[in-house]
Amino acid sequence: MDEHELTITRYRCCTCNGTGLDDDRNRCLDCDGIGIDNHGAP
Ligand SMILES: [Zn+2]
Repeated sequence: MDEHELTITRYRCCTCNGTGLDDDRNRCLDCDGIGIDNHGAP
């Protein structure tokens, strides 16, 4: 099982690229500022 890779790579938010911040340096609304996309979209 590659749980680490899944957590870090596969679910990294595409909107903020895993930073948790959007282009305006505000909290990314797509991942709620955590940098991890849990919406299930690839
Ligand atoms: Zn995000």
